[in-house]
Amino acid sequence: MKILIAEDDPAFRQLLEDILVTWGYEVVVTRDGNEAWQALMAKDAPQLAILDWKMPGMEGIEICRQFRKDAKENYTYIILLTSQQRDEELVIGMEAGADDYVIKPFKHNELRVRLRAGRRIIELQNELLAAREILYEKATHDSLTGLLNHEEILGILDKELARSERDGVCVSVIMADIDHFKRVNDTYGHLAGDEVLRITTQKMLSMERPYDSIGRYGGDEFIVVLPECCIECAAALAERLRSCINRDSVDTSEGMIPVTISLGVATSGKDGKRDGHSLIKVADAALYKAKENGRNRVEIAPDDGMRTEFQPEPDTIGGKHNEDPDSGR
Ligand code: GH3
Ligand code: MG
Repeated sequence: MKILIAEDDPAFRQLLEDILVTWGYEVVVTRDGNEAWQALMAKDAPQLAILDWKMPGMEGIEICRQFRKDAKENYTYIILLTSQQRDEELVIGMEAGADDYVIKPFKHNELRVRLRAGRRIIELQNELLAAREILYEKATHDSLTGLLNHEEILGILDKELARSERDGVCVSVIMADIDHFKRVNDTYGHLAGDEVLRITTQKMLSMERPYDSIGRYGGDEFIVVLPECCIECAAALAERLRSCINRDSVDTSEGMIPVTISLGVATSGKDGKRDGHSLIKVADAALYKAKENGRNRVEIAPDDGMRTEFQPEPDTIGGKHNEDPDSGR
């Protein structure tokens, strides 16, 4: 584990460094309070620190105070080194945010056990943070595809709509649904169906712009939230998604499975006249229309004078789109 020492006395500093290295610590050495502060602010800063109380620049106690003021996510365990013996001064040190203190001169074993206690606290806290991150990931993401889950993507849509209303820009959404996915399950089995969902997701993610968000709306239906994106730009992206999925069959353990998707596109309008609920409703209606009109196609939700059917370029690779013999969803 990395540990910071801040000590202005060269002989004492060297002694500390030597024993800490012997105990297996990776030591970051600083000679005064200002250097120590820089080291604590650095990326990947040590989470264990031994600070001398009296130092040029910032004193150890001042570093504690400042450091605790803007508390970081990862806890740093601070031990103050002091020659103060008086109780009230030690209390001041602890109240400033130190976790422990060691009075100079000290026995090596005393420092060793105190460091061990600090180390245990840091390790437990790091484990807690990692567990919290895993829980957060599980609560916000779909376990099969790794995409944002239903609640999370709707939350993002609401946030983007609020932001777009403030900034007077559009938010568009694409609803996408795999065509005849039941047949995939029936023909190749549910595990192959799962593979199709995962691989299709990866293909869609590869087309995503950095500021877009894709979520699994449910079953084989996906939603893409496109901030600051007008209807034309959203329709063009939807068409690129359609073409990308249509281009190559999906390589699964049950063989190559051809997959197509149908997509419905809608926009909030610059004046934010559509809220999240109605935006999804109209995008879903457009998706329904894409299914009705033959699948493997993009339909745009009608909006003042807009075209409602996207006219794509013919696919350059693979078969033509819109050759589904069925109509109706
Ligand atoms: P359409 O072209 O009209 O969309 O036809 P479809 O067969 O795809 O119909 P629909 O979208 O209504 O069917 C979705 C199917 O997806 C139904 C359900 O059994 C299946 N499904 C939902 N979630 C999963 C999943 O996690 N894994 C697998 N393998 N199948 C799923
Ligand atoms: Mg479907």
